[in-house]
Amino acid sequence: MISPSFDNSYARLPERFYTKLPPKPVAAPALISLNTGLAAQMGLDAEWLRSDDGLAMLAGNAMPDGADPLAQVYAGHQFGGWSPQLGDGRANVLGEVVGPDAARWDIQLKGSGPTPYSRMGDGRAGLGPVMREYIVSEAMQAFGVPTTRALAAVSTGERVQRETGLPGAILTRVARSHIRVGTFQYFAARDDQEAVSLLLDHAITRHYPQVAQGDALGFLDAVIKAQAELVAKWMGLGFIHGVMNTDNTHVGGLTIDYGPCAFMDAYHPATVFSSIDQQGRYVYQGQPEVLVWNLAQLASSLLPQIDEDSDKAVSAARNALEAFGGHYTAEWKRVFFAKVGFATGGDAQVALVQDLLTRMADNQADFTRVFRAMARGRGARDEFVDPTSFDAWEVEWGGGDEAIMRAANPAIIPRNHRVEEAIQAGMQGDYAPFHRLNDALAAPFEDRAEFDDLETAPSEQQLVRQTFCGT
Ligand code: AMP
Ligand code: MG
Repeated sequence: MISPSFDNSYARLPERFYTKLPPKPVAAPALISLNTGLAAQMGLDAEWLRSDDGLAMLAGNAMPDGADPLAQVYAGHQFGGWSPQLGDGRANVLGEVVGPDAARWDIQLKGSGPTPYSRMGDGRAGLGPVMREYIVSEAMQAFGVPTTRALAAVSTGERVQRETGLPGAILTRVARSHIRVGTFQYFAARDDQEAVSLLLDHAITRHYPQVAQGDALGFLDAVIKAQAELVAKWMGLGFIHGVMNTDNTHVGGLTIDYGPCAFMDAYHPATVFSSIDQQGRYVYQGQPEVLVWNLAQLASSLLPQIDEDSDKAVSAARNALEAFGGHYTAEWKRVFFAKVGFATGGDAQVALVQDLLTRMADNQADFTRVFRAMARGRGARDEFVDPTSFDAWEVEWGGGDEAIMRAANPAIIPRNHRVEEAIQAGMQGDYAPFHRLNDALAAPFEDRAEFDDLETAPSEQQLVRQTFCGT
């Protein structure tokens, strides 16, 4: 058995980037789930991760040689309001490992105890949110959407106090980095240009090696493109992030921070789930626009790095942001054309898709079920309150390529009521529904009869109308 071989590049950045501190040990850790496929991809020994020493690392109770745990500092706009200092308030990055494919991964524990950035929080995570992030982030990966990953979940044997007492848990989150728009904002707001420049080079190395060191504009262009493509993919799955704050916007174009996120059942562009999103800032259809706002904050943070002449810097940043729409539309077309079985298309096909979406919204049609039924060539009309609305559209459509549709339209998504069901069972110590849901979601584009029940839309009683951060 071999323990991880760490090479901690973030920890080599100056001290003002983080606070080094170990996780706080927990009473009685037990492994809930280990993602062995991901472990292999990262070059980690699954047998070691399951060993006493491995579990001790995943619980934050003891660190293997080479780990150099730290909490990262960042800032961010939360629901539009500026927070000059945030940071890992309930997480420690243990270090980085380099996989056999030369990809570098952060290994982070989430729920691993208080840090100087915890503010009023306890630094811990409840079992429910940990299970939720595990399920949804791994489903995103299976859908082909860039995301942070879940390597493991452990229960802590401790309780966390939220509205009620809940079992505690720790998620081992892994990602190509944990650098956020808010990380740049933190240093830019202090006018610490030396740090911005170091962070820029670090982020380029980790995410955009094709961009030259120091090329802030090249980096900004790359982030804008990656994020535009990311949000278009979310739209194609009916995914609502729920907390698109700048500290939750990853410069590598990864989905990060699975708090009150949710997939829509019935399609409606004005859907909002998060209980803390009172104003509907992060409504489904508003996500691209909010992202542009977040990316504008990144652009502002980079201005002095883009050009010494501030007028030139501003106009270059403006041009960069203007490219968002083109990237977004291109990816939106790719995604939605594939959903209706077209390899390519033009304005007429865009109008056709928009017409379908309007009809779906008017008919409370289930987003996932309609498109999967189209791939199967039967049943789509039954999802509409007025099935003739689909019939009329179908004539205009004239059919699409089945293989394209099957590869674009998942049969199974992490439906809110199923995630909730898995969590409720987990709270009683029964992880079977959690494992089953993860197994089904590992191959979401396949028809597998044993998972048919996971395709059904929620009944009125099962319907989840609101989601909570609850961490
Ligand atoms: P989030 O809403 O998950 O993006 O978190 C926003 C900020 O609150 C981050 O700085 C987190 O580290 C911090 N935070 C959230 N939950 C906790 C907690 N239970 N303990 C300490 N800090 C927390
Ligand atoms: Mg966050």
